[in-house]
Amino acid sequence: LVSRENHPSRSMVSVRGVPIGGDNVTVIAGPCAVETPEQTLAAAQMARAAGAALLRGGAYKPRTSPYAFQGLGESGLKILADVREETGLPIVTEVVDPADVELVAGYADMLQIGTRNAQNFALLQAAGEAGRPVMLKRGMNATIEEWLMAAEYIAQRGNLDIVLCERGIRTFEKATRNTLDISAVPVAQNLSHLPVIVDPSHSGGKRDLVLPLSRAAIAVGADGIIVDVHPAPETALCDGPQALVGEDIEALADLAASLTALM
Ligand code: PEP
Repeated sequence: LVSRENHPSRSMVSVRGVPIGGDNVTVIAGPCAVETPEQTLAAAQMARAAGAALLRGGAYKPRTSPYAFQGLGESGLKILADVREETGLPIVTEVVDPADVELVAGYADMLQIGTRNAQNFALLQAAGEAGRPVMLKRGMNATIEEWLMAAEYIAQRGNLDIVLCERGIRTFEKATRNTLDISAVPVAQNLSHLPVIVDPSHSGGKRDLVLPLSRAAIAVGADGIIVDVHPAPETALCDGPQALVGEDIEALADLAASLTALM
């Protein structure tokens, strides 16, 4: 279903009217985690200033440590919905448990499946039945074939509104949080008709890598990027070191403006 074999032209996914794919390069930005209404609104305003058309933000956070901030749950979803109301930015947010899919889909414009759940087949199937577009991150240890098969689990449930997201894979290299597999973008685009975007924040794991990796993603033909921003990264409850702030927002805005000029 997701292969290009039976579907030679590339697909476009619409998230509440915002296109991903086709001739577009879509910028998604926002905080890694929803923390407070004020922080989320400030991050959404930063996202908008940076040229983002969609707001990201996690209310359910799949953390490596069970002692780390796990997200606000439904109250975080309510904050996102309020911020959507205020800014007009549609919401992309992660779901981590099949039992929560209906609840999260009640607030979200696009469901995100994270790297740690990329082969949680029950979750993929539930997301496929939720009536919302799905962004599927590549599993950090997944081959491209495994990633596309994970997408197939969603598609098989009748949902072809799927966006693939390359977010870096595990390698021996320790200088970056994950190794951005930039070649995965054209490879996945050749094998599948689905749009493919890149997460330069979770792959690099460091603020100063986010813009160079974003440029690389765009140069290689990615259909979009998803970027962490935070009004006060030093106090962020999740992934502060990779969040853009201040001048970086202007640099991202310049990049987004150059994309608009290209379209
Ligand atoms: C995220 O985007 O919030 C996230 C946790 O990403 P990943 O699943 O790629 O680690």
